[in-house]
Amino acid sequence: AFTLPGAQGGSADKPKKIAVLTSGGDSAGMNAAVRAVVRMGIARGCHAYIIREGWEGLVRGNTEYHETVASTANTPQTSQPATPALSRNASFAALPPSQRLAAATKGASSRNRKSGQPYGPLTFGFGDLLKDGAGEGEDEAGAAADLALHQSGEPSTSGSEYPGSGTAGGADGQKTLKGMYIVRVGWDDVRGWMGEGGTLIGSSRCPAFRTREGRLKAAENLIHFGIDCLAVCGGDGSLTGADKLRGEWPSLVKELLEKKRITKDQAETFAHLNIVGLVGSIDNDMAMTDLTIGGITALHRICEAIDSISSTASSHSRAFVVEVMGRHCGWLSLLAGIATGADYVFIPEQPPKSARWEEEMCEVLRAHRRVGKRKSIVIVAEGALDRNLNPIKGEDIKDVLVKQLGLDTRVTTLGHTQRGGKPCAWDRILPTVQGVEAVETLLSATPTTPSYMIGISENKITRVPLLEAVAQTQAVATAIEAKDFDKAISYRDPEFAESLQAFIASSTLDERFKVPQEKRLRVGIIHVGAPAGGMNAATRQAVRYCVARGHTPLAIHNGFEGLLEDNVQELSWLRVDNWTTRGGSELGTNRTLPDANLGGVAAAFQSHAFDALLIIGGFEAWHALQIMETARSNYPSFQIPMCHLPATLSNNVPLTDFSLGSDTSLNALIDACDAIKQSASASRNRVFVVETQGGMSGYIATLGALAVGGVLCYTPEDGISLDLLRKDVEFLKKRYELDAHGKSEGRLVIKSEKSSKVYTTEVLTNILKEEGKDLFDARSASLGHTLQGGTPSPLDRTRAARLTLRCMQFLEEHAVSPSLKAPYKGRNKVLTSNTPKSAASITIQGSQIIFAPVADVLKAADMKNRTGKETWWKDMKALAELLGGRTGLVGND
Ligand code: ATP
Repeated sequence: AFTLPGAQGGSADKPKKIAVLTSGGDSAGMNAAVRAVVRMGIARGCHAYIIREGWEGLVRGNTEYHETVASTANTPQTSQPATPALSRNASFAALPPSQRLAAATKGASSRNRKSGQPYGPLTFGFGDLLKDGAGEGEDEAGAAADLALHQSGEPSTSGSEYPGSGTAGGADGQKTLKGMYIVRVGWDDVRGWMGEGGTLIGSSRCPAFRTREGRLKAAENLIHFGIDCLAVCGGDGSLTGADKLRGEWPSLVKELLEKKRITKDQAETFAHLNIVGLVGSIDNDMAMTDLTIGGITALHRICEAIDSISSTASSHSRAFVVEVMGRHCGWLSLLAGIATGADYVFIPEQPPKSARWEEEMCEVLRAHRRVGKRKSIVIVAEGALDRNLNPIKGEDIKDVLVKQLGLDTRVTTLGHTQRGGKPCAWDRILPTVQGVEAVETLLSATPTTPSYMIGISENKITRVPLLEAVAQTQAVATAIEAKDFDKAISYRDPEFAESLQAFIASSTLDERFKVPQEKRLRVGIIHVGAPAGGMNAATRQAVRYCVARGHTPLAIHNGFEGLLEDNVQELSWLRVDNWTTRGGSELGTNRTLPDANLGGVAAAFQSHAFDALLIIGGFEAWHALQIMETARSNYPSFQIPMCHLPATLSNNVPLTDFSLGSDTSLNALIDACDAIKQSASASRNRVFVVETQGGMSGYIATLGALAVGGVLCYTPEDGISLDLLRKDVEFLKKRYELDAHGKSEGRLVIKSEKSSKVYTTEVLTNILKEEGKDLFDARSASLGHTLQGGTPSPLDRTRAARLTLRCMQFLEEHAVSPSLKAPYKGRNKVLTSNTPKSAASITIQGSQIIFAPVADVLKAADMKNRTGKETWWKDMKALAELLGGRTGLVGND
């Protein structure tokens, strides 16, 4: 669960100063983290700084503007600590970039030209400088920046720091940002950063920071700027550096004082440094957190590539070896293997069991070809090893496939495409929530608290001691070097081991996993309700698991209607091969419940001799389970283990934090909103009211608003009132007034379709249009069924595989061996599956996966609105509106 933090960043006359930097390899989502730290810092009354080019920027400090910036930044503020005042100043923004920055650095911008009043937090117009023309010439620019930083000792003037050379912003930026690495930023400087890939504030590898002298300089710069809170977003190296800086801090301060580089007062004021780590890394290689910022986006890029490769591989009956990133971590390789339905994966933590990996791999692929597969996909992590620690490379695998299996084989190395592109929905939400938690952690830190790293466990944002997380991460590499592979796996989060198990169960075709004949089950699989991304991936996993264990997978087509029509068919291993990537419902689904003809459904269960049932779907699917469980005493054929796997884009199944399909839907929403926003921005002052699906659940609208930076959000849970509308209109007017002399922005309002019966999307849009007058215009867009998404997202596919594995294990655990079955009449006597526990939904609750019996779900359900009574995301709406600026301008309701 998430709650809004409440700590204050110092007092109005002595605000705390929070700085944020990104370091090491860049990853998608770093910009969202920076935005969250900056905006939440300002919202809490702090001054916010960005440090450009990672540790390098902190070591360098500001060569040209050091004094000026420091004194400008100390200008008294008008903002109250609890109120995030919007900082965009009309006359300031209207200046051409060169004058804007010059004005800022000379302190001229600290007074409003019209009113003569001091501003709120200063805006340097920095965000615009970086964003204008972003994306042009990135590669050479990045290389040039590295060279400039590391070789010449001079700050780079290349395009990566000042993108868009040739544009006004870029050209001016080259001149004016030179020598400024530590920059005070305002609210609007991070506007629109959510959807940008990479890191807009720059990153680098900094050899100087590895030395004490470098860290001494870094400490001196922090003290000179008065910065006492530092958020670092990077991989394990960057966070090791952070911990080192914090550990050495007292001695660094002492040395600076002895060398008279700081005053006694400064030494006393800055006796402690608060540091927090945010893990930005595409490899997802950090221990003690399930996910790192950027990992899921990299998985998106890999899956897009492999999905494309798959069709051509199939056409030509080829084999493809795909090399993905991951030096000591096989997460990308493994998860991509699950999400794309690959045949074999190589990961550093778990090399093939036998020393002769060639034979082991060929045996698996041969078996797949024997049952009729036309394509073979092998994914190899760049750090893959054999049992004797010899590297396994793509070309080695290719040679084996050609020589031993005679397969026409190609190698594809995905390289830096994996880093690129815009962040997926999760890599906007996760860094936002973690960035907010980072600010809270910094503000509540005391000299005795350790430095924390912000992590996530299932759906719980966690704080873990930074040192411990870094040590455990490094221990994985050490365990691999010592050939202790089980230990290496044990250091990864439990999800990793479970995913590996899921992959093996879905890709292995041999006898070793089969259960004895008397334990083999006939497992019915049914889809109920609306289609959702991941339903087919879950079905594939269930079928593959059944085949691996010797059970019989029986697909019930077209829901309970289909069952009544006897539309039941055994599925084969090969039949479901491509199902991970397919959207919709391959089995067919509808909303009919079993009570349409309960006797008929029970008879069908009996005639097909189901020993267990997997029900995949949303609220209706759970309702179906409830109906059958309640009827167990009258219909013995329901006295079998039954498991419900939540799958619905509305995410309205009570108790579970996530349903399959909700991530796919959020990604469909951000794609649509990014396009809409572009159009809205082109017309400058346009507000778009975007209507989402979701029934009586505001999940998609709320998380969607958080992910796209929507300024307002309407949900069925909160409804819409006249008073609320009045305040929202007031906010938009104030916001556009602040823009009026500068560059106006398109803005998004996300509205759940059932937020209000009266204030429909059309009515709302008309009200905004009418009230906006000359300030802003309003349009609407309804996303409708597009939100069911096309291809399911990698997160939904992999979550489907992992949760289905658990469901199948649940069914086995609660099933009674068929050979022990008495005739149906006597079943009560022998079956354990008649207990309430044996009919359950699999739920993600905070950091745990829990099988919730029907009665527990019922207790948590709002049956009228078909949703849960409690939702973990309810505070996210307030967070979205706070980070969107509404709270700062018109306050909370
Ligand atoms: P990635 O996951 O992309 O490799 P990373 O943060 O692990 O990211 P590194 O190159 O290991 O990347 O580290 C980035 C920077 O952090 C280094 O250039 C250096 O400035 C600093 N750093 C790394 N390790 C240490 C250390 N042991 N002591 C001090 N600083 C360090």
